[in-house]
Amino acid sequence: MAGDSDPATWILDKCKAQGFALAGVCDADPPRWGTEFRQWLDAGKHGEMAYLDEHFGATQDPNQVLEGAQSVVMVADLYATRDEPADTVVPGVGRIARYARGHDYHMAIKKRLHTICDEARVIFPGEEFRAFVDTAPMNEREFAARAGLGWIAKHTLVINPTLGSWMVLGGFLTTMKLDKPTHQPSYEDHCGTCTRCIDACPTDAITPYSVDATRCISYLTIEHRSPIDEQLMAQMGDWVAGCDICQEVCPHNSPKAFAEDHESHASYGTKRAGLDLLAILGWDTDKRREALATSALKRVKLDQFRRNAAIAAGHALHKNELPELRSKLEQIESDESEPGLVRQAARWALADRHDP
Ligand code: SF4
Ligand code: SF4
Repeated sequence: MAGDSDPATWILDKCKAQGFALAGVCDADPPRWGTEFRQWLDAGKHGEMAYLDEHFGATQDPNQVLEGAQSVVMVADLYATRDEPADTVVPGVGRIARYARGHDYHMAIKKRLHTICDEARVIFPGEEFRAFVDTAPMNEREFAARAGLGWIAKHTLVINPTLGSWMVLGGFLTTMKLDKPTHQPSYEDHCGTCTRCIDACPTDAITPYSVDATRCISYLTIEHRSPIDEQLMAQMGDWVAGCDICQEVCPHNSPKAFAEDHESHASYGTKRAGLDLLAILGWDTDKRREALATSALKRVKLDQFRRNAAIAAGHALHKNELPELRSKLEQIESDESEPGLVRQAARWALADRHDP
């Protein structure tokens, strides 16, 4: 057994020892927002993420993820701190979202969750544990909110009132019945009348508490594998992987709002704040692999990344004289052996006028 502590406290202490900024427990009952999720899928707002529709049934029943599941333990790592400098636009450089600037969070979180689960299997024989970090059909945000990590905000990310929203989530299911510790918080929605994220989103992807993925730059740059609609390309700016705008403008992420005594986890120290557009346009499979070896962005395919770089290059060309970038785009656009989606983006980038 777990010494003097009850099982939930023992597990949460282990999460703390593993350096997670937040951890909490909740029941493994079906998600309460399944109807809204179904409507969102039926409206096609998941775009090319067919797996979300295919696994809808499992997302509504954690027992399909772990038979006999009774509880969920949710954890969060911070990947940015109050001292994080504001982003600046650098001509010829494509921006990537903050969560992807350090080591791959999947690896960083999974390893520590497996350590906790392995130890728990010894201490609680006969019980089952299954860890997940985007690796199982679990609505992680809903369970995070249920486990007291924060509230699901209008931009649909989880915000903790002390730590903001610069955090990545993971967790594990267990067959154990864990009681919520009495001191575990439960947060109300603190968005109030604020609409900053909705107003700032360049593609109008946000309606309160829902994001149309097919309009979201994060989806378009990372998940969407086809050519991108020209109207959306015109709004994408210098992002080549992800987008942080709705988090950057959120008052809960302002430096003043951050707790001073919380550091981001060491795994997320910046290794790459941006990527050179000319370099990306010249990538082959090996160069792409080398550039993204330890990054969560290694799942973005070569053609997608070069398409994204061509779009960002179009925005850069509009604002700056970058002759090398222009020549590279012209070379891609005229090369029939280039993939269609990269050529289409290059053609758009070279057009006279495309900003809104
Ligand atoms: S990530 Fe960017 S594009 Fe997506 S909802 Fe937020 S602001 Fe809009
Ligand atoms: S910007 Fe405002 S509305 Fe959007 S998530 Fe933050 S507090 Fe909520």
